[in-house]
Amino acid sequence: MTDTHCPYCSLQCGMTLQRKGPALEVLERSFPVNEGALCRKGWTSTGLRGTRERLTTPLVRDRATGELTAVGWDEALDLIAARLSALRAEHGADANAIFGGGGLTNEKAYLLGKLARVALGTSQIDYNGRWCMSSAASAGNQAFGIDRGLPFPLADIEQTDVLVLVGSNLAETMPPAARHLDRLRERGGKVVVVDPRLTPTGERADLFVQPLPGTDLALALGVLHLIDAGGSVDEAYVQERTTGFEEVRRGVASWWPERVERVTGVEAADVRALADLLAGAEKVMVLTARGAEQHTTGTDTVLAWINVALALGMPGRPAAGYGCLTGQGNGQGGREHGQKADQLPGYRSIEDPAARAHVGRVWGVDPATIPGKGRSAYELLSALGTADGPRSLMVLGSNIVVSAPNALAVTERLQSLDLLVVADIVMSETAALADVVLPVTQWAEESGTMTNLEGRVILRERAISPPAGVRSDLDLIAGLAARLDAPGGWSTDPEEVFTELRAATAGGRADYSGITYDRIRAEDGVFWPCPAEDHAGTPRLFADSFAHPDGRARFIAVEHRGPAEAVSAAYPVHLTTGRVLAQYQSGAQTRRIRELPDDGAFVEVHPLLAGRIGARDGEPVLIRTARGEMKAPARVVTTIRPDVVFVPFHWVGVNKLTNDALDPSSRMPEFKVCAAAVESCLVASRDTPDGRTHRPQIALQPAPSREAPA
Ligand code: SF4
Repeated sequence: MTDTHCPYCSLQCGMTLQRKGPALEVLERSFPVNEGALCRKGWTSTGLRGTRERLTTPLVRDRATGELTAVGWDEALDLIAARLSALRAEHGADANAIFGGGGLTNEKAYLLGKLARVALGTSQIDYNGRWCMSSAASAGNQAFGIDRGLPFPLADIEQTDVLVLVGSNLAETMPPAARHLDRLRERGGKVVVVDPRLTPTGERADLFVQPLPGTDLALALGVLHLIDAGGSVDEAYVQERTTGFEEVRRGVASWWPERVERVTGVEAADVRALADLLAGAEKVMVLTARGAEQHTTGTDTVLAWINVALALGMPGRPAAGYGCLTGQGNGQGGREHGQKADQLPGYRSIEDPAARAHVGRVWGVDPATIPGKGRSAYELLSALGTADGPRSLMVLGSNIVVSAPNALAVTERLQSLDLLVVADIVMSETAALADVVLPVTQWAEESGTMTNLEGRVILRERAISPPAGVRSDLDLIAGLAARLDAPGGWSTDPEEVFTELRAATAGGRADYSGITYDRIRAEDGVFWPCPAEDHAGTPRLFADSFAHPDGRARFIAVEHRGPAEAVSAAYPVHLTTGRVLAQYQSGAQTRRIRELPDDGAFVEVHPLLAGRIGARDGEPVLIRTARGEMKAPARVVTTIRPDVVFVPFHWVGVNKLTNDALDPSSRMPEFKVCAAAVESCLVASRDTPDGRTHRPQIALQPAPSREAPA
């Protein structure tokens, strides 16, 4: 029996794995974040074991024939190292790039960053977490001087008075967390859900607010306008613990509720009801997730909601404040230890001379040899194979072909490379394009730490041996480092790598130096920062001060801008994307688990829109954007706005539709809204009593106008 954690989302639910003959069973385990509960994905997570689709040998493609041929690990690593060295010699160090993932353990993320900077000397490394939580990270750093998803344990939700969830469907994406909403309401607290769709989370809400995608920022401005106009700003807190409020106050002065209604589509009465609820509560907690963050205005949207929380005097108070519900299993730790283009381990800036000196000492290299900041994830992918861009890409823990925005364009870039290397457990859509495919371990076959959405560092323990021929990502990295004559240590033992990581993070914002594997086992995880082995860790941040040098939080004035792509006559509806309960991210794992239902992508449309285009429930519709098109069955539901359609993104083709416009601060693509056209695939051919096609004439409610702030 092995105590470990689920392989999927940022909740990192505790579970026990038990061997039963050749099978591996998931058993309930009491752990603080899930108290024994798991969602369907967790219960079925061992389903990938023994699948015939499991990769068990390295594969190398013959470009002349297109065939993949099985080779040994040494041959594959020799070939990769030789090609990387040749590309570097011919085109410079930045000719080689690395793309990591928010599901990799801290140890892997750390060693991958080191491989890029020390062994390859490239600045070109980023990861898919850039597409997940980066806008909240950027906002948290600006407002509080630090970015930790939740600055308090998740269970604090139960003790607040009003919980505002902006763009989160946690009841469906992390069901064990939904119990906190139920307990909060049982003790008389209120839940507010802000979402363009009435989701299972919205159904639990006391107040459900349904804005147009891309307008959450305007809603926050309007709420703060009313809080200020009603005299509910906590002036003492603002005075003592923050800076910058007066500019924010001036900025929200013109956001009266009727103007908010015109921009967001949320009735002025609901804006007032929300503001009244917040103004009258002793403890308010605002949590954002991808729905608010995956926009070109994502950082500013989060800042606008942080401004609301600060004006009410909440951050740092018990069971109150602002937090981000991170998404991927190690979305938090993945951005702390060096696989992000602008970071060194410990959440250090790669541009900070003191940080470079510290990490250079740990790595045993001259800090001057550590490259500077590289391209962000989408910018990196869109540069591949171009005159100034990388000529090779190594991908670990990511299925770019499915998950990247504007996926057709990204796929073309991947195909233009001189060398594409993909390490995965199955032949994902991205691995299928690779020149070299490397079969690597999955979670139950290896140990390593993850950092969950609370900043709690947890330990996944190895429960079973990997199949013959499969190696861990740490082996892969160390094998390449050795072939590239990289200086320093390259252990393949996760605990040894963690010991080095601890030293590299010492003194950084995300300081792990006091955390050990034994402590994690004994204490149900340890919260960072934890600067010494006798330090208790830090479950709650900001009680006494914020992380800026003066100890104060920053109000930052932001303005509503609306989505990058406006609806038009050609593309008259707003497309938004999201998740379903039974699938995870690109679906590379969950789509292969038999016990999980896989009905494929679908298009949620409101009956009014369905009537207008002549679509019926279950029948195919064609959805088009400026970048691509796809067909999927319609799901006609009253839970979505009539001017919005929704498609879950776990299947190939959905991200052909999404917009690659980036947030200027976080470089987050605008996954959550773009302009689209939807039409029935059958209406033109459907038989009618008079032999002619009748397109029902039901008018859409006009979309709210997009309005620039005064
Ligand atoms: S909620 Fe997340 S961590 Fe928990 S079982 Fe489900 S997928 Fe796994």
